[in-house]
Amino acid sequence: MAKLLEGKPVAEKIKEAIRLSVQNLKQAPVLASILVGNNLGAASYVSSQEKTAASLGIAYRLYKLNDNITENVLIDLINKLNADKTVNGIIVQTPLGPQMDYRKISEVISAQKDAEGMHPLNMGHVIFGNNRAATCTASAVMELLNSTGIDLCGKETVVVGSSEIVGKPLALLLLERLATVTICHIGTSKAGKLKEHVRKADLLISAVGQAGIINGEWIKKGAIVVDVGINRANGKIVGDVGFQAAEKRASYITPVPGGVGPLTVVILMRNLVEAAKLQQ
Ligand code: NDP
Repeated sequence: MAKLLEGKPVAEKIKEAIRLSVQNLKQAPVLASILVGNNLGAASYVSSQEKTAASLGIAYRLYKLNDNITENVLIDLINKLNADKTVNGIIVQTPLGPQMDYRKISEVISAQKDAEGMHPLNMGHVIFGNNRAATCTASAVMELLNSTGIDLCGKETVVVGSSEIVGKPLALLLLERLATVTICHIGTSKAGKLKEHVRKADLLISAVGQAGIINGEWIKKGAIVVDVGINRANGKIVGDVGFQAAEKRASYITPVPGGVGPLTVVILMRNLVEAAKLQQ
Protein backbone atom coordinates (compact mmCIF):
# COMPACT_ATOMS: atom_id res chain seq x y z
CA MET A 1 0.00 0.00 0.00
CA ALA A 2 1.33 3.45 -0.95
CA LYS A 3 2.44 6.07 1.55
CA LEU A 4 0.24 9.16 1.39
CA LEU A 5 2.05 12.22 0.11
CA GLU A 6 0.13 14.93 1.95
CA GLY A 7 0.58 18.62 1.31
CA LYS A 8 -0.13 19.96 4.78
CA PRO A 9 3.07 18.95 6.64
CA VAL A 10 5.22 20.26 3.78
CA ALA A 11 3.15 23.46 3.67
CA GLU A 12 3.63 23.99 7.43
CA LYS A 13 7.43 23.89 7.08
CA ILE A 14 7.36 26.41 4.23
CA LYS A 15 5.00 28.62 6.25
CA GLU A 16 7.53 28.73 9.10
CA ALA A 17 10.18 30.01 6.70
CA ILE A 18 7.76 32.57 5.24
CA ARG A 19 6.88 33.89 8.74
CA LEU A 20 10.57 34.47 9.43
CA SER A 21 11.02 36.31 6.13
CA VAL A 22 7.96 38.47 6.82
CA GLN A 23 9.37 39.44 10.24
CA ASN A 24 12.57 40.60 8.55
CA LEU A 25 10.76 42.89 6.11
CA LYS A 26 10.39 46.61 6.87
CA GLN A 27 6.64 46.50 6.15
CA ALA A 28 4.09 43.70 5.96
CA PRO A 29 3.95 42.52 2.34
CA VAL A 30 0.78 43.27 0.37
CA LEU A 31 -0.89 40.93 -2.11
CA ALA A 32 -3.50 42.47 -4.42
CA SER A 33 -5.99 39.92 -5.64
CA ILE A 34 -8.46 40.56 -8.46
CA LEU A 35 -11.61 38.45 -8.69
CA VAL A 36 -13.78 38.97 -11.77
CA GLY A 37 -17.32 37.61 -11.45
CA ASN A 38 -18.33 34.92 -8.99
CA ASN A 39 -16.95 31.60 -10.20
CA LEU A 40 -17.24 29.14 -7.31
CA GLY A 41 -13.77 27.61 -7.73
CA ALA A 42 -12.10 31.05 -7.90
CA ALA A 43 -14.08 32.30 -4.88
CA SER A 44 -13.02 29.27 -2.86
CA TYR A 45 -9.35 29.77 -3.85
CA VAL A 46 -9.68 33.44 -2.78
CA SER A 47 -11.00 32.46 0.61
CA SER A 48 -8.09 30.03 1.10
CA GLN A 49 -5.65 32.79 0.03
CA GLU A 50 -7.22 35.22 2.53
CA LYS A 51 -6.88 32.75 5.40
CA THR A 52 -3.31 31.77 4.51
CA ALA A 53 -2.23 35.41 4.14
CA ALA A 54 -3.71 36.30 7.54
CA SER A 55 -1.88 33.39 9.19
CA LEU A 56 1.44 34.65 7.78
CA GLY A 57 1.17 38.39 8.52
CA ILE A 58 0.56 39.21 4.86
CA ALA A 59 -1.93 41.95 3.93
CA TYR A 60 -4.49 40.70 1.40
CA ARG A 61 -6.36 43.32 -0.66
CA LEU A 62 -9.25 41.89 -2.65
CA TYR A 63 -10.62 43.76 -5.67
CA LYS A 64 -13.97 42.38 -6.84
CA LEU A 65 -15.10 43.26 -10.36
CA ASN A 66 -18.35 42.43 -12.16
CA ASP A 67 -18.11 39.68 -14.77
CA ASN A 68 -19.46 42.05 -17.48
CA ILE A 69 -16.53 44.52 -17.30
CA THR A 70 -14.40 45.11 -20.39
CA GLU A 71 -10.81 43.94 -20.64
CA ASN A 72 -9.69 47.60 -20.51
CA VAL A 73 -11.23 48.10 -17.06
CA LEU A 74 -9.21 45.15 -15.77
CA ILE A 75 -6.05 46.39 -17.49
CA ASP A 76 -6.50 49.88 -15.95
CA LEU A 77 -6.77 48.37 -12.46
CA ILE A 78 -3.66 46.21 -12.99
CA ASN A 79 -1.72 49.26 -14.21
CA LYS A 80 -2.72 51.19 -11.08
CA LEU A 81 -1.57 48.30 -8.89
CA ASN A 82 1.68 48.03 -10.86
CA ALA A 83 2.37 51.69 -10.08
CA ASP A 84 1.28 51.45 -6.42
CA LYS A 85 4.47 51.16 -4.34
CA THR A 86 2.53 49.73 -1.37
CA VAL A 87 1.55 46.66 -3.45
CA ASN A 88 4.19 43.91 -3.69
CA GLY A 89 2.35 41.25 -5.67
CA ILE A 90 -0.70 40.84 -7.90
CA ILE A 91 -2.81 37.82 -8.74
CA VAL A 92 -5.72 37.75 -11.18
CA GLN A 93 -8.02 34.83 -10.39
CA THR A 94 -9.11 32.56 -13.21
CA PRO A 95 -11.27 31.69 -15.07
CA LEU A 96 -11.89 35.05 -16.72
CA GLY A 97 -14.88 35.77 -18.97
CA PRO A 98 -14.71 35.16 -22.75
CA GLN A 99 -14.15 38.92 -23.36
CA MET A 100 -10.74 38.63 -21.64
CA ASP A 101 -7.49 37.27 -23.01
CA TYR A 102 -5.68 35.76 -19.98
CA ARG A 103 -2.35 35.63 -21.80
CA LYS A 104 -2.55 39.36 -22.51
CA ILE A 105 -3.58 40.04 -18.89
CA SER A 106 -0.62 38.07 -17.52
CA GLU A 107 1.71 40.24 -19.59
CA VAL A 108 0.19 43.45 -18.19
CA ILE A 109 1.05 42.47 -14.60
CA SER A 110 4.56 43.73 -13.84
CA ALA A 111 6.99 40.78 -13.92
CA GLN A 112 8.32 41.94 -10.51
CA LYS A 113 4.81 41.72 -8.99
CA ASP A 114 3.79 38.49 -10.73
CA ALA A 115 2.98 36.32 -7.70
CA GLU A 116 1.72 33.44 -9.83
CA GLY A 117 4.70 33.05 -12.16
CA MET A 118 2.59 33.47 -15.30
CA HIS A 119 4.43 36.46 -16.84
CA PRO A 120 6.33 35.40 -19.99
CA LEU A 121 9.55 36.82 -18.52
CA ASN A 122 9.23 34.58 -15.45
CA MET A 123 8.30 31.63 -17.67
CA GLY A 124 11.52 32.34 -19.56
CA HIS A 125 13.54 32.35 -16.32
CA VAL A 126 12.36 28.77 -15.69
CA ILE A 127 13.90 27.67 -18.99
CA PHE A 128 17.21 29.01 -17.69
CA GLY A 129 16.87 27.02 -14.46
CA ASN A 130 15.61 29.77 -12.12
CA ASN A 131 13.09 27.58 -10.34
CA ARG A 132 11.87 30.29 -7.98
CA ALA A 133 10.14 31.98 -10.93
CA ALA A 134 7.95 28.96 -11.72
CA THR A 135 4.18 28.85 -11.37
CA CYS A 136 2.78 28.06 -7.93
CA THR A 137 1.32 24.67 -8.85
CA ALA A 138 4.44 23.44 -10.62
CA SER A 139 6.56 24.53 -7.63
CA ALA A 140 4.09 22.88 -5.24
CA VAL A 141 4.55 19.53 -7.01
CA MET A 142 8.34 19.88 -6.78
CA GLU A 143 8.13 20.65 -3.03
CA LEU A 144 6.08 17.48 -2.51
CA LEU A 145 8.61 15.43 -4.45
CA ASN A 146 11.51 17.02 -2.51
CA SER A 147 9.82 16.00 0.74
CA THR A 148 10.24 12.32 -0.20
CA GLY A 149 14.03 12.74 -0.51
CA ILE A 150 13.95 10.59 -3.66
CA ASP A 151 16.56 11.34 -6.33
CA LEU A 152 14.78 12.12 -9.61
CA CYS A 153 17.88 11.67 -11.76
CA GLY A 154 17.11 9.32 -14.65
CA LYS A 155 13.58 8.54 -13.39
CA GLU A 156 11.14 7.61 -16.15
CA THR A 157 8.71 10.50 -15.61
CA VAL A 158 5.37 11.06 -17.30
CA VAL A 159 3.51 14.36 -17.01
CA VAL A 160 -0.08 14.17 -18.26
CA GLY A 161 -1.41 17.62 -19.24
CA SER A 162 0.64 20.36 -20.87
CA SER A 163 -0.99 23.61 -19.75
CA GLU A 164 1.08 26.77 -19.23
CA ILE A 165 0.15 26.83 -15.54
CA VAL A 166 1.04 23.23 -14.65
CA GLY A 167 2.33 20.69 -17.19
CA LYS A 168 4.80 22.77 -19.23
CA PRO A 169 6.66 24.53 -16.37
CA LEU A 170 6.63 21.31 -14.34
CA ALA A 171 8.27 19.39 -17.17
CA LEU A 172 11.07 22.01 -17.19
CA LEU A 173 11.56 21.80 -13.41
CA LEU A 174 11.77 18.00 -13.63
CA LEU A 175 14.24 18.26 -16.50
CA GLU A 176 16.40 20.50 -14.31
CA ARG A 177 16.52 17.57 -11.85
CA LEU A 178 17.65 15.24 -14.66
CA ALA A 179 14.41 13.24 -14.79
CA THR A 180 13.64 11.64 -18.18
CA VAL A 181 10.43 13.48 -19.00
CA THR A 182 7.60 12.51 -21.34
CA ILE A 183 4.68 14.93 -21.69
CA CYS A 184 1.27 13.50 -22.61
CA HIS A 185 -1.64 15.63 -23.79
CA ILE A 186 -4.78 15.41 -25.83
CA GLY A 187 -2.81 14.20 -28.87
CA THR A 188 -1.46 11.27 -26.84
CA SER A 189 -5.00 10.24 -25.90
CA LYS A 190 -6.24 10.69 -29.47
CA ALA A 191 -3.48 8.35 -30.63
CA GLY A 192 -4.63 5.81 -27.99
CA LYS A 193 -1.19 5.90 -26.32
CA LEU A 194 -1.91 7.29 -22.86
CA LYS A 195 -2.03 3.89 -21.15
CA GLU A 196 1.23 2.80 -22.82
CA HIS A 197 3.08 5.86 -21.46
CA VAL A 198 1.53 5.77 -17.99
CA ARG A 199 2.48 2.10 -17.54
CA LYS A 200 6.17 2.97 -17.98
CA ALA A 201 6.21 5.80 -15.43
CA ASP A 202 8.32 5.53 -12.27
CA LEU A 203 6.99 9.01 -11.53
CA LEU A 204 3.53 9.97 -12.81
CA ILE A 205 2.06 13.44 -12.52
CA SER A 206 -1.43 14.05 -13.82
CA ALA A 207 -2.82 17.56 -14.37
CA VAL A 208 -5.73 17.15 -16.77
CA GLY A 209 -8.95 17.81 -14.86
CA GLN A 210 -10.87 14.64 -15.80
CA ALA A 211 -11.88 12.23 -13.07
CA GLY A 212 -10.53 8.74 -13.71
CA ILE A 213 -8.64 9.58 -16.92
CA ILE A 214 -5.77 7.57 -15.42
CA ASN A 215 -6.93 4.06 -14.60
CA GLY A 216 -5.35 3.00 -11.30
CA GLU A 217 -4.52 -0.42 -12.78
CA TRP A 218 -2.13 1.25 -15.24
CA ILE A 219 0.18 2.43 -12.44
CA LYS A 220 3.58 0.72 -12.43
CA LYS A 221 4.38 -1.16 -9.20
CA GLY A 222 6.32 1.15 -6.87
CA ALA A 223 5.64 4.32 -8.89
CA ILE A 224 5.29 7.75 -7.31
CA VAL A 225 1.92 9.28 -8.23
CA VAL A 226 1.15 12.98 -7.93
CA ASP A 227 -2.41 13.89 -8.83
CA VAL A 228 -2.89 17.61 -9.49
CA GLY A 229 -6.41 17.23 -10.93
CA ILE A 230 -9.40 18.57 -9.02
CA ASN A 231 -12.72 17.20 -10.22
CA ARG A 232 -16.24 16.81 -8.88
CA ALA A 233 -17.68 13.32 -9.23
CA ASN A 234 -20.75 11.99 -7.43
CA GLY A 235 -20.74 14.97 -5.08
CA LYS A 236 -17.11 14.41 -4.06
CA ILE A 237 -13.79 16.06 -4.94
CA VAL A 238 -11.53 13.56 -6.71
CA GLY A 239 -8.36 13.67 -8.78
CA ASP A 240 -7.55 12.36 -12.27
CA VAL A 241 -6.23 9.01 -11.05
CA GLY A 242 -8.38 6.04 -9.98
CA PHE A 243 -7.16 6.22 -6.40
CA GLN A 244 -8.27 2.87 -4.96
CA ALA A 245 -6.42 0.73 -7.49
CA ALA A 246 -3.48 3.14 -7.73
CA GLU A 247 -2.71 3.19 -4.00
CA LYS A 248 -2.31 -0.59 -4.06
CA ARG A 249 0.41 -0.32 -6.72
CA ALA A 250 2.20 2.98 -6.01
CA SER A 251 4.96 3.61 -3.44
CA TYR A 252 3.75 7.18 -2.82
CA ILE A 253 0.48 8.81 -3.83
CA THR A 254 -1.11 12.21 -3.20
CA PRO A 255 -4.64 12.27 -1.81
CA VAL A 256 -7.19 14.54 -3.51
CA PRO A 257 -8.06 16.77 -1.78
CA GLY A 258 -5.10 17.27 0.55
CA GLY A 259 -2.12 16.68 -1.76
CA VAL A 260 -0.94 19.48 -4.06
CA GLY A 261 -3.76 21.94 -3.20
CA PRO A 262 -2.64 23.00 0.33
CA LEU A 263 0.84 23.74 -1.02
CA THR A 264 -0.12 25.84 -4.03
CA VAL A 265 -1.48 28.70 -1.94
CA VAL A 266 1.58 28.65 0.34
CA ILE A 267 3.91 28.91 -2.66
CA LEU A 268 1.87 31.90 -3.85
CA MET A 269 2.64 33.59 -0.51
CA ARG A 270 6.32 32.61 -0.75
CA ASN A 271 6.51 34.19 -4.22
CA LEU A 272 4.93 37.35 -2.84
CA VAL A 273 7.38 37.58 0.05
CA GLU A 274 10.35 37.01 -2.28
CA ALA A 275 9.02 39.84 -4.50
CA ALA A 276 8.61 42.11 -1.45
CA LYS A 277 12.21 41.38 -0.38
CA LEU A 278 13.53 42.48 -3.76
CA GLN A 279 11.31 45.56 -3.85
CA GLN A 280 12.14 46.71 -0.31
P1 NDP B 1 -6.08 22.98 -18.51
O1 NDP B 1 -7.46 22.65 -18.96
O2 NDP B 1 -5.51 24.30 -18.82
O3 NDP B 1 -5.08 21.88 -19.06
C1 NDP B 1 -5.42 20.53 -19.11
C2 NDP B 1 -4.37 19.78 -19.86
O4 NDP B 1 -4.81 18.43 -19.98
C3 NDP B 1 -4.12 20.28 -21.27
O5 NDP B 1 -2.74 20.31 -21.51
C4 NDP B 1 -4.81 19.24 -22.15
O6 NDP B 1 -4.12 18.95 -23.36
C5 NDP B 1 -4.69 18.01 -21.32
N1 NDP B 1 -5.76 17.08 -21.68
C6 NDP B 1 -7.08 17.34 -21.86
N2 NDP B 1 -7.74 16.21 -22.20
C7 NDP B 1 -6.81 15.23 -22.22
C8 NDP B 1 -6.86 13.86 -22.51
N3 NDP B 1 -8.01 13.26 -22.84
N4 NDP B 1 -5.71 13.15 -22.46
C9 NDP B 1 -4.54 13.73 -22.13
N5 NDP B 1 -4.44 15.04 -21.84
C10 NDP B 1 -5.56 15.78 -21.89
O7 NDP B 1 -6.09 22.73 -16.94
P2 NDP B 1 -5.05 23.21 -15.80
O8 NDP B 1 -3.68 22.85 -16.18
O9 NDP B 1 -5.36 24.58 -15.40
O10 NDP B 1 -5.53 22.27 -14.59
C11 NDP B 1 -5.47 20.86 -14.70
C12 NDP B 1 -6.12 20.25 -13.46
O11 NDP B 1 -5.35 20.62 -12.33
C13 NDP B 1 -7.53 20.74 -13.18
O12 NDP B 1 -8.27 19.70 -12.59
C14 NDP B 1 -7.32 21.84 -12.18
O13 NDP B 1 -8.47 22.04 -11.36
C15 NDP B 1 -6.19 21.29 -11.39
N6 NDP B 1 -5.38 22.32 -10.71
C16 NDP B 1 -5.06 22.07 -9.42
C17 NDP B 1 -4.30 22.95 -8.71
C18 NDP B 1 -3.93 22.64 -7.31
O14 NDP B 1 -3.41 23.48 -6.61
N7 NDP B 1 -4.14 21.41 -6.84
C19 NDP B 1 -3.87 24.22 -9.31
C20 NDP B 1 -4.14 24.33 -10.73
C21 NDP B 1 -4.91 23.40 -11.38
P3 NDP B 1 -4.04 19.95 -24.61
O15 NDP B 1 -3.10 21.04 -24.13
O16 NDP B 1 -3.47 19.13 -25.67
O17 NDP B 1 -5.44 20.43 -24.80
